[in-house]
Amino acid sequence: MSFVADRLSAVLPSATIAVSQKARDLAATGRDIISLGAGEPDFDTPAHVIEAAKQALDDGMTRYTAVNGIPELQDAIIAKFKRDNDLDYSHDEIHVSCGGKPVIFNAMMATVNPGDEIIIPAPYWVSYPDIPAFFGGKAVIVDCPASSGFKMTPEQLEAAITPKTKWLFICSPSNPTGAGYTRDDLKGLAEVLLRHEHVWVFSDDIYEHLVYDDFEFATIAQVEPKLKSRTCTMNGMSKAYCMTGWRVGFAGGPVELIKAMTKVQSQSISHTAAVSQAASVAALNGPQDFIAANNEVFKERRDLVVSMLNQATGLDCPTPEGAFYVYPSCAGLIDKKTPAGKTIENDEDFVTYILEEEGVAAVHGAAFGLSPHFRISYATATDLLEDACQRIQRACAALT
Ligand code: PMP
Ligand code: GLU
Repeated sequence: MSFVADRLSAVLPSATIAVSQKARDLAATGRDIISLGAGEPDFDTPAHVIEAAKQALDDGMTRYTAVNGIPELQDAIIAKFKRDNDLDYSHDEIHVSCGGKPVIFNAMMATVNPGDEIIIPAPYWVSYPDIPAFFGGKAVIVDCPASSGFKMTPEQLEAAITPKTKWLFICSPSNPTGAGYTRDDLKGLAEVLLRHEHVWVFSDDIYEHLVYDDFEFATIAQVEPKLKSRTCTMNGMSKAYCMTGWRVGFAGGPVELIKAMTKVQSQSISHTAAVSQAASVAALNGPQDFIAANNEVFKERRDLVVSMLNQATGLDCPTPEGAFYVYPSCAGLIDKKTPAGKTIENDEDFVTYILEEEGVAAVHGAAFGLSPHFRISYATATDLLEDACQRIQRACAALT
């Protein structure tokens, strides 16, 4: 008998975190590694946010807070939902945790019974199937290939719903594809959901602000207000505010859900760090113009990476609407041989090959539930990205 609990056998370690760690470990041995594995902005947290955190510490912000954060943070989140999403939430409809990931964890722990089904469009962020799996939740994966823009259609949603469906996950712009659901796309899904009152929606809006060209972000509770009473609208500080290490995420949702999530958190982490809460208040209430400035850079990098990968033999890279990922297909390279004589049988073989041969770390598509693809995060210095894409081109050209 294993000392480790049985429930862990249903859960895989996070592949995105594993790839980032592998890249760090290889770099520590002196190898020249370019890590395009982690979904983390390379920009620093804005200076005014850091100043606010320093000030908060000087002012004695070093103690416990309420589970869902200090009143100033709750107010800032309520104002954010109103300003950006035209959503009205009251204080008892706001949850605050140590990042978007724990918000998902709390929501799933608070609601999922063994056998409950969670509809997850693939490709999906690696943690969506595994978090509900801790609680016996069953992921119902819906394949959304590049030919449908990596997006789920209303027909696919209708076909996936059963009496056991508890949640639908929506991630737009998406990790790992960058694909964004338009207002009309969401309306189509909402029409289906209105016919199935037992299905709740988990809307992961963490890439809300990272959109390019003229793509307009929308979230489902805003597009169909009748769904607001069964939607958890999640967001966080990690991506647009460049605050991954501060660990702040939040959600708006119905009182019944928020109360249950608060109960979970009151017996686990209590709350996120007081100083991080003060920093988040400054970020949410302060100037927002740095986001547009960062997006200019992200868009340039996206265009560079899409263009360079499309020049590589055997790769096909769609242009995403948002986030900071591309999700190229490597179908054209399957069954080819590496210079060492190894056959590329799948996307995992391909990312292993580019890591070993050229020192470029990327995440294989199988981890996100749609192969043969791989994910590249372009939240990395532009010159490094260019170097990495040249290495990938060279690696592709060397396959026979
Ligand atoms: N959702 C998605 C789609 C993500 O990519 C991430 C980043 N890993 C998160 C949630 C959670 O991020 P964090 O816990 O840093 O807020
Ligand atoms: N969201 C990032 C990623 O997908 C961070 C790592 C993680 O939390 O999975 O790479």
